[in-house]
Order: sequence, then C-alpha cells, then structure tokens
Amino acid sequence: MPTDIKSLTREELEAQFKTWGEPAFRVTQLLDWLYARRATTWEAMSNLPKALRGKLGETYTLQILGLARKQGAHDTTQKFLWQLADGAFIESVLIPANPALYGEASDRHTLCISTQVGCAYGCRFCASGLDGWKRNLGVHEIVEQILAVERWHAAQPKAESLEPTANRVVNNIVVMGMGEPLANYDNLIKALKILNAPWGAGIGARKITISTSGLAPQIRKLAVEPMQFRLAISLHGATDEVRNRIMPVNKKYPLHELTGACEDYQKVKGRMITLEYILIAGINDSLEQTRPLATLAKRLYAKVNLIPYNKVEGLPWVRPADEVCDRFHAALEKLDVTATLRREKGGDIDAACGQLRLKTERELAESK
Ligand code: SAH
Ligand code: SF4
Repeated sequence: MPTDIKSLTREELEAQFKTWGEPAFRVTQLLDWLYARRATTWEAMSNLPKALRGKLGETYTLQILGLARKQGAHDTTQKFLWQLADGAFIESVLIPANPALYGEASDRHTLCISTQVGCAYGCRFCASGLDGWKRNLGVHEIVEQILAVERWHAAQPKAESLEPTANRVVNNIVVMGMGEPLANYDNLIKALKILNAPWGAGIGARKITISTSGLAPQIRKLAVEPMQFRLAISLHGATDEVRNRIMPVNKKYPLHELTGACEDYQKVKGRMITLEYILIAGINDSLEQTRPLATLAKRLYAKVNLIPYNKVEGLPWVRPADEVCDRFHAALEKLDVTATLRREKGGDIDAACGQLRLKTERELAESK
C-alpha cells in the first residue's frame, strides 16, 4: 500500500521534496492545500506545477473519507458514519459546546474521533467491541475525520450551519470514538501531532482529550510525550471487583497498576485527569461505590464525569433512573469530589461509540 499524504509530517515532506529537488516553499503550498483548504484532489492544487502534482499522485494516495450515513439529533449533535478505502466503517460525532465537559467556556464544538475499526478490549457494555477488532486506523484516517467534518460543515447552507460565521467548526477533539486509542499508539500520536501543528489543523494540545480503558504502560509512555494532551480514564468501577465484571482489561492492568500509572502521569504533567464513570443500573450505581470512587479521585487529583449508560441493542445493561444518577452525583460532591453528571447529548442518535457502525453493518449483512 502506498503511503497517504496526510500521514506525513512537515519534516518528512521536506525531506522527500529535497530528494526531488523541489524548493521548501512547495511544501508550504502543499500543506496549505491539505489542511487549510482541505483539497480533495491533486488537480485542485493549482499553484503546484503539473509535474509535481503528477509525482505526488504517483507516490502517495490522497484518501478522502466517504460519508456513508449521517444522523443529527434535535440538539444538533451530528453523527457521521464514514466508509474507508477498504470498505470498513468508522464513526465521528460532532457535539456542540458544553462548557462543563472538558474545556473552557469559549469552546464551541467537540469532535469525537475513532482510532480503530472495532475494538479488542471487549468491555461488556460497549458496542464498539461487540464484533471484535478489525484493524488500526492509519494516521491519515484519524486526521481525515476532522478534515471531512470541516468539509461537510463548509458545504452546509448558512441557515443550517452550526456556526455560520466560523471558518472552522472543530475546536476540541476527544479521542473517544471506536477503538482503544492507546492500542494504536504510534499512529495516534503522529495524527495528533499533525492535527496540533500550526501547519496542520492547528488545534491546541490542551483541547485534545485522549480516553483510555486503562492501558497502564501506554499511560506512562504518554506522560513523557512533549505534547500536553488531556487524559481521561474509562474507570466505570472503583474496585477491582466491579471493574473485573465489566472490563476484561482490568485483569491485565488491575486498579493498583492503573492508578499507579495515572499518579505518575499526573506528577509528570501536573495536569488534572478525568475519570469517566458510566452509571449502569445494578452494576456500579449503588451509593456504596461513591466512597472508593471518591478516595481514588482525590488521590489522583481527578474530576469525575458521570455518564448515564446509553442502551446498546442486544446487551442486557440498563441506565439507572434519573433520581439514582442524581443521588450518586450528590453523594460524590458531598465527599468533596468535583463531579459532573453528563446528560448524554445525542442519546437519541445512537451516540455511544460504535452503535451506528454496528447497526449499519448488521443491516448490510441482513440485506445480503
Ligand atoms: N477505548 C477508549 C475510548 C473509546 S470509548 C475507552 O474505553 O476509553 C469512549 C467512552 O464511551 C468510554 O468511556 C466508554 O466506556 C464509553 N461507552 C462505551 N459504551 C457506552 C455506552 N453504551 N454508554 C455510555 N458510554 C459508553
Ligand atoms: Fe474498547 Fe473503549 Fe469500548 Fe472498551 S469502552 S470496548 S476499550 S472502545
């Protein structure tokens, strides 16, 4: 498979252009076409000499994500199902501003992106892992999710557009779509470098949140990366007993290892970690759980995001009643923990990761 142009950094392109005897300013022009103008063909890059465009086309692919399906909720959360070059499906979700979530009040839109096709970790409650893991996404496939949403946004008629005046719609990224990002570590970091770079998508590292189910060694590795990403841990249980029931990854990296890695991360980065805690009826929503959760959160200087479970077709788990969620939230706050209870946006559009893909693949299989 030839390399895709959007999986290369500026330095790599400069090295290649040098061997071709092309001046460095041509790289600047190329990057402008790719990331500022979000060009979809080599032909469109009109200020590059034809011969250079030909050489680029012979050497690299310029893959564009195809929009297979889109759903939009009433609150304007938009869910995109993309088809990749090999026919596989992945999802990205565009979520309008919610200042209490991961960023500051000025943040406008967050794009939730995928890093793998399927997931190998098989958390019992999650749609992404139901059909197992297919493959890692390439760097360009991670990067393209942002560009493709920006292209979609730019093509909207003004009245329908989310932010009619803004040139860019995505100013926050959460790596919380399908897949375990830290299991595709190298491609993830390179993609985020490109998305962060001033010559790339220009999204601040502090506006990028990586979510992991708890791969302790990779959390330690992430701690020494120069970029200041935010880190979220999918905790969902404050004891090994609860976690073992719903997250097989906990057998490999039990809580003492996971929290040890988080502590190191916190020390090196000096940044607050977020603990994600899905509330699932009868599994982890009893008030007894708030004590170990509070102890853990305080030890890690972490805040807690409570998320009522989103029903997944074919799985037995259910969301607790609103009062149960509210009581759990209040009990945590009483224990001096910073906690938010997230009223799931886009719950009516299969917003939990992997659900739209699963539905589409099952529909396709049935129609065969
Ligand atoms: N693999 C990574 C990132 C993708 S999952 C991780 O596990 O952190 C993103 C988040 O969605 C995780 O916190 C995951 O536990 C949560 N999630 C998965 N299925 C869900 C569901 N049905 N309802 C609510 N949250 C869900
Ligand atoms: Fe994979 Fe995350 Fe879903 Fe677990 S919650 S199966 S790690 S995507």
